[in-house]
Amino acid sequence: KRRIAIMTSGGDSPGMNPAIRAVVRMGIDKGCDVYGVYEGYEGLVQGGDLIRQFQWSEVRGWLSEGGTLIGTARCMAFYERAGRLKAAKNMVLHGIDALIICGGDGSLTGADKFRSEWPDLVQELVDTKQLTAEQTKPYKHLNIVGLVGSIDNDMSGTDATIGCFSALGRICEMVDYIEATASSHSRAFVIEVMGRHCGWLALMAGVATGADFIFIPEKPRPEKWREEMCAVVAHHRQNGKRKTIVIVAEGAYDQEGNKITPEMIKDLLADKEGLALDTRITTLGHVQRGGSACAYDRYLGTLQGVEAVRAVLDATPDTPSPFIAVNENKITRKPLMQAVLDTKEVANAIAAKDFDRAMSLRDTEFSD
Ligand code: ATP
Repeated sequence: KRRIAIMTSGGDSPGMNPAIRAVVRMGIDKGCDVYGVYEGYEGLVQGGDLIRQFQWSEVRGWLSEGGTLIGTARCMAFYERAGRLKAAKNMVLHGIDALIICGGDGSLTGADKFRSEWPDLVQELVDTKQLTAEQTKPYKHLNIVGLVGSIDNDMSGTDATIGCFSALGRICEMVDYIEATASSHSRAFVIEVMGRHCGWLALMAGVATGADFIFIPEKPRPEKWREEMCAVVAHHRQNGKRKTIVIVAEGAYDQEGNKITPEMIKDLLADKEGLALDTRITTLGHVQRGGSACAYDRYLGTLQGVEAVRAVLDATPDTPSPFIAVNENKITRKPLMQAVLDTKEVANAIAAKDFDRAMSLRDTEFSD
């Protein structure tokens, strides 16, 4: 009987609970035992009560629960081989040889490293007499399957990550609230949204709310962005618009690589010599992450959770670790490490201020 573990790691995102629920129920339906690893990799390293078997009924009602009910954490110990050795021991002791992990690219990188080291780790546990050869015999290989849980939609190779549409919906709802008061007082608002290396949330929110101007990491504004923004806002005001909304991703830069902050934008809009708009800043922060998942993320988490269990059952020792993606509305399996490398490449291009490259690596079409 296969024993599969499900874990959430890195930042939480709405839709993780629906994914856990789907893994638990599909696993049980396919005759497997399904375990929950609590508190991310910390649970694997510490073991004990942090690894617990799930029953079918225990995930009842999880579709509408935000965040992750099995907890998530950043775990320093798992970066070290010693931590991964402890994790391997705990997995063997629980009889688990397949791990479905829902997290960002860091968590998935850690998972693949763990898989590639697995035979050596198990051998070391025998050599150091922590486990017997008999105990480890059925656990020669570890299967890893990734689910991408992230509000940023920053993973290459998939059209959407679990949680991104919930966060986008939340941002749009908040902008709608702000617009009502902005319009009443004829004010300007600079709204900061999440996205350190990825402008998807800011871009999509800009389109969906009809914002006056947006700033995203991948496409820095030209040198004269100040003049450009003020001209656009002035034009909209001349056309009778009583509100001004500027959306800025937390990782926005200009072409020289200088950070563009909400304060800088506010100062420009409020400049007495210029537009002289009564301007406020709203940092949306963690409301973007919280709350229950929208229908799409519940659906995506469910379908991808089901597919993750199928991928575990189909895996052979030679299959490279897959992650579950969605491409053109179809649930697909793709090589995990290629997507992780592609994702890192975008972040590296942005860090190196090679913005043309960053843009060309993004799947989403951006236009002027
Ligand atoms: P988010 O998108 O929210 O940042 P993430 O999964 O990328 O999510 P990280 O903080 O990078 O978040 O990783 C979460 C955890 O995964 C780390 O605390 C660590 O335990 C493990 N991890 C990440 N990268 C590695 C790695 N290269 N080797 C081993 N473990 C790793």
